Amino acid sequence: MEHQSIPGAPGDDTLGQRSRRAVWHPCTRLRPDDDGVPLAIARGEGPWLYDADGHRYFDATSSWWVNLFGHANPHINAALARQLETLGHVMLAGCTHAPAVELAERLSALTGGALGNVFYASDGASAVEIALKMSFHYWRNTGLPAKREFVCLQHGYHGETVGALGVTDVEIFRDAYDPLIRRAHVVMSPDARQAAPGESAADVATRALAELEALLRERAGQIAALIVEPLVQGAAGMAMYDASYLDGARALCDRYRVHLIADEIAVGCGRTGTFFAWEQARGGDAPLPAHLWPDFLCLSKGISGGYLPLSLVLSRPDIQRAFVADDLARSFLHSHSYTGNPLACRAALATLDLFAQDDVIVRNRERAQWLAEAMSGLAADARLQRVRQRGLIWAADVRGDVAGAEFASRFHHAARARELLVRPIGNTLYVMPPYVFDAAQARWLAGQLQATLDDVTGPVSEEVRHAA
Ligand SMILES: *Cc1c(COP(=O)(O)O)cnc(C)c1O
Repeated sequence: MEHQSIPGAPGDDTLGQRSRRAVWHPCTRLRPDDDGVPLAIARGEGPWLYDADGHRYFDATSSWWVNLFGHANPHINAALARQLETLGHVMLAGCTHAPAVELAERLSALTGGALGNVFYASDGASAVEIALKMSFHYWRNTGLPAKREFVCLQHGYHGETVGALGVTDVEIFRDAYDPLIRRAHVVMSPDARQAAPGESAADVATRALAELEALLRERAGQIAALIVEPLVQGAAGMAMYDASYLDGARALCDRYRVHLIADEIAVGCGRTGTFFAWEQARGGDAPLPAHLWPDFLCLSKGISGGYLPLSLVLSRPDIQRAFVADDLARSFLHSHSYTGNPLACRAALATLDLFAQDDVIVRNRERAQWLAEAMSGLAADARLQRVRQRGLIWAADVRGDVAGAEFASRFHHAARARELLVRPIGNTLYVMPPYVFDAAQARWLAGQLQATLDDVTGPVSEEVRHAA
């Protein structure tokens, strides 16, 4: 067998080249002839990232959906510096500390007390696995050990560890590992892009619920939980759907005694217009009654403001009660070394401070409006279709006949030359900027996207205009 190494001429010692040799980059195809050298970032400030030569890049996708209040945020920096002076880490088994306790209390309060008992981990996939294991274990502890199957939505994404891949329906991440994976049932997604002529987003949600019910009617005795990304299926390509699906799924899960896991790893922390996307299950104007919340809610990504790895699972109080016993086998013996890390929890508390101090949820309505207005030109562009927005996530699909091969990669590189950091998903162009831009920056962003689209596809042809 021939082994090829990644090139990079000896003596070419830019940080990007050294990185290609020393670091195995995620989600990156390794090709002997690949000229894609990683962009070396030296520092960040607000929505901007700067390379070593001082070139700036607008972080239009919040560094993989994690950053909320910009880079080098003074409030978060100061809180972390203070925390560093007192406690960097201590194990959470048998010990505790103020940041872990305060964060759990404040998050529970944000659900009106419907959820609590925060279980900490470090990344999103682990939070998903914790929720899956807890659900299965709950049913076992309550005399229903046959409930050990899971249900996920078509094109749903819940992380890439072997357990999380079982509920992830994204072929490029899953298929190579299929022999290792215990696959979940996959049911129709309420993705509104599937609407037939004359059908509304709510109609698509109703159809998807009917399919879910058909499965639950048949197999609820074997099913532990349904897992969903509320409102927006991120990795599927920002597939957005009607909120009525959430309320309907909650009702079906109650009727058939199946847990509901809300994976808010991407959509939580204000992205969709409310702190938790689930708050919109009944429209979002009035606080949600306790019984309408999911049984488990996973958070990660934005919760630490994009600073440190932190994930967590909130659950209903009655879940934990099923684990109270002298018997060790009934206990949830799951742990991660850095569970509840004080620095990560401190960053999260500082992030929650900013939400409260600056009335961020209300002010983000205005930002969402700026984004919509700035993007109105693009929204009318004949090369784009299925333009959609939910809160501070804006997305559109580039028509297949104009996108061409490797659209995402070509767009990413062309955008860099226009001071923009974006990574389309397939032919889906999207932005989800940190919550620190103003109306002028939104217009600038839209202009750069439009110009990059021209760079990559050429201007709109008569044919395309006609077809649209
Ligand atoms: C990113 C993501 C995950 C996985 O989180 P990691 O920290 O990357 O493991 C899970 N679910 C959703 C919806 C995500 O967007």
